[in-house]
This record gives sequence, structure tokens and C-alpha cells, in this order.
Amino acid sequence: MKLQLETIPVWDGVKEGSECFLCSLMKQAEDDGVRYYLSSAVMTPEVRVETNTKGFCTHHFLMLADGGKAQSLGLVMDTYYEESSRILDPYIDKILSAGNARKAMKAVNAFVAKEEERERGCLICTRMEDRLMRYCYTIASLWKEDPEFRSALLASKGFCVHHTKELALRAKEALSGDDLAGFLHDIFSLLKSNLERVKHDDWWLTQMYKSENKDKDWNGCEDAHRRAVCKLVGEHHVIDPIK
Ligand SMILES: [Zn+2]
Ligand SMILES: [Zn+2]
Repeated sequence: MKLQLETIPVWDGVKEGSECFLCSLMKQAEDDGVRYYLSSAVMTPEVRVETNTKGFCTHHFLMLADGGKAQSLGLVMDTYYEESSRILDPYIDKILSAGNARKAMKAVNAFVAKEEERERGCLICTRMEDRLMRYCYTIASLWKEDPEFRSALLASKGFCVHHTKELALRAKEALSGDDLAGFLHDIFSLLKSNLERVKHDDWWLTQMYKSENKDKDWNGCEDAHRRAVCKLVGEHHVIDPIK
């Protein structure tokens, strides 16, 4: 698959100095997705068919709810509700008319299967996934083609554990053979050294709460607990893309 290069955002990312610039790029993709699904785009029939049938994951439904656009989301929810009713009402009616526990539980199981199918997939996660694919492809391609980018990447703080994994799994779209092996070696040594750095910073933060260290220097570790979460867990994951 030939993917489009996203050179500018990736170069901006590698220079920003965060614990994971793929998390930052995913945050932008997420914000763009939320803005789009709260914009006048939701007035168009095609987009409403999308939102009615696919919807969003819990995290992104809540971001939409907190997005300050009551009218847009109100319209989306009005027809999403109708579609949910059309799909789920027959299953609810079967539970209501079951008459005994065995029949009721059989109807509940059928309802659960349908409801889980209804919950699956998120339009915003899908948009994030598309961009993640392009960003990973770009990072691997620039690593091979541009020595300046490779140096900047190796001098950066790299990626969180989650996005190192995503990058490793997707690198084969851009690289093969010795290039792929070299790239994997580089991103995992970057991960290893940066995990050690963050672990040390977090340890120093804990030491600073001991009375005998009260006059010592924080060494920039005041936010190490937060950076430890960013590095080990990541901040902005794709949760439930439509497959
Ligand atoms: Zn990340
Ligand atoms: Zn989502």
C-alpha cells in the first residue's frame, strides 16, 4: 500500500520535545475529529447516515458531549436514537413478553449480542487510525531517506510504549530487510533509554518528598509522575476503529 507522506507534522513532532510525539499528533487528530462531528457537516444526509449507523466510542461520545455544540450533537443524537430504537426495540419487546425466566434470559442474550454490535466502531477513532497509519509510514520512510531526520529522531525522547508497538507493527509498509531490522533496533533502543530516564526521574520525585532531601534540587522532576504515565501508557490511543 502506498501511503501519503506527512512530512511537516512529523518533523514538527520530532522537534517538540514531548514524551511521545505520536500521542501529540493523535491528540490533534482527535480534536479535528471532534470539531468535524460538531460542525455543520452533521447537517448533511451522508454524514448523518455515518453517525447513525457507526456512532462513536464512549470516550469520543463524551468529548462530543463536552464540545459546547448542543444543537449539532442534539441533531446527531436525535437520529442516532431513532436508529437505535429501530435496531433494539424488537429485542426489548421480546424480553418484555417472555413470560418466564428461561425465555427472558434467551431474549436478554439476543439483546446483548445486538447491543454489542451496535456499540462497535467509532468514526473519530477511525479518522485517528487513518492518520496514525500515515504518520508511522512517514516516520519509517524519513528514517530511511533523510539522515537529518534520523539524527533528530534518535536525539528525541521517542515514543510511549503503546506507540512504539504501533510503529513497529506498521513499519513494514515502508521498510524491509536490513532497513526494517535497523529501524526496529533504533526505536526500541530509544524506548529503552527513555524508559530508564523517566523511571529515574519518577524515582527522584519520590525522593524529594523525604524530609532529608528538602533542600535538594528537583532537577526538573516536578512532573515526572505525569511523564511516567505518558511514557508507559500513552495519552491518546485509537480505541475502536471501524474495521
Ligand atoms: Zn504515544
Ligand atoms: Zn473513538
